[in-house]
Amino acid sequence: MQVTVERYPAPTRNGANLELPKLHGEISKPRKKLVRREKKDASQHIRLAVQSAFLILSVWIGGQFYFWVRWAETGGRTAEITRPAGVEGGLPIEGLMQSRYVLASGHLPRLHPAAFFLFAAFTLSSLLLRKSFCGWMCPVGTISEYLWKFGRNVLGRNVRLPRWIDLPLRSLKYLLLGFFAYAIAMMSAVAIADFVASPYGLVVDVRMLNFFRFIDGTTACVLGILVLASMMVQNFWCRYLCPYGAWMGLISLVSPVLIARRESTCIDCGKCAKVCPSALPVDRLIQIRSAECMSCLECVAVCPAKNTLDLQVAVPTKPRRVLPAWQLAIGLAVIFFGFVGYAKLSGHWQTSLPREVVLKLVSAANEQNHPIIENGHSGTEQ
Ligand code: SF4
Ligand code: SF4
Repeated sequence: MQVTVERYPAPTRNGANLELPKLHGEISKPRKKLVRREKKDASQHIRLAVQSAFLILSVWIGGQFYFWVRWAETGGRTAEITRPAGVEGGLPIEGLMQSRYVLASGHLPRLHPAAFFLFAAFTLSSLLLRKSFCGWMCPVGTISEYLWKFGRNVLGRNVRLPRWIDLPLRSLKYLLLGFFAYAIAMMSAVAIADFVASPYGLVVDVRMLNFFRFIDGTTACVLGILVLASMMVQNFWCRYLCPYGAWMGLISLVSPVLIARRESTCIDCGKCAKVCPSALPVDRLIQIRSAECMSCLECVAVCPAKNTLDLQVAVPTKPRRVLPAWQLAIGLAVIFFGFVGYAKLSGHWQTSLPREVVLKLVSAANEQNHPIIENGHSGTEQ
């Protein structure tokens, strides 16, 4: 086996040489030798394949859902198609509500059960494989990533917000999550079931689609600002505003999977920290367990040193082991298809409603009032 050994120029951070002035009597740190990795890292090709597959799946589900809505809006005059239950993956708040319902009642939901199964699958993936849902599966995360990459190509660089703005902005997504989690925690299982079964709850997915179909000036402006911000700041939406990402991040804090850096072979080149879209100081830590790390493996891919930076499984009582990107991808696929497959085979995937009810509710989706939730009970606004 041939190993390339190079003398590395100087200790650096964030890619820039840091030639610090030597104080009188200071002993300079010996420069480390780079033992270059032999194999090219394939993690980013694998991640792109997984991201593309989920993006295509999401577009497919979105298209099918649109044609289902059109079928209902035309009173059933267009070709009838099945409502794709996978659309409930885009309803994380409902997923959280359904999870609370399952925990409180011990029963699986009869209406919109896919919201529960998808939420549970993504939560389990975060528990076992860090916040990989955001870095590998979420279509919004994928779009966000390619927006900042596009922005970097066009503008030459991305903006890194100073810490005094970055920190309070980052807390926004936790505040949003806290607001929803508190409101849901206050609801009883009966109140959740009533909410989901209300005319509003039954067409909450249609209302989400209509939000984008019938966009007004204010919404268009807000979306335009979000797109621009996403082009300039890496993962703007995910980093500052997404309560779903906040949930996954909190769950990932107890994940056995982490990014580990081997100090003895690290040459302090700072490349890992420079590419990290979550702005984590990878080059200065021994392990990354941050709620912001989404297992994207960009840092691992760029590290030039052999056996220095890896995604690892760290279970107490067992020796650590490296988790290659392909195993992470298989893990995500097993969790996702496992949950979806179980839900489908056990008859807990589709919501079945009488045809006349669907036609009536979908056509009047935007006229339904949000149920009022008081003291954990829900009723409909008059
Ligand atoms: S630490 Fe590495 S894996 Fe985690 S977000 Fe940063 S680049 Fe991605
Ligand atoms: S872990 Fe790798 S990329 Fe990061 S500073 Fe060390 S050698 Fe450079």
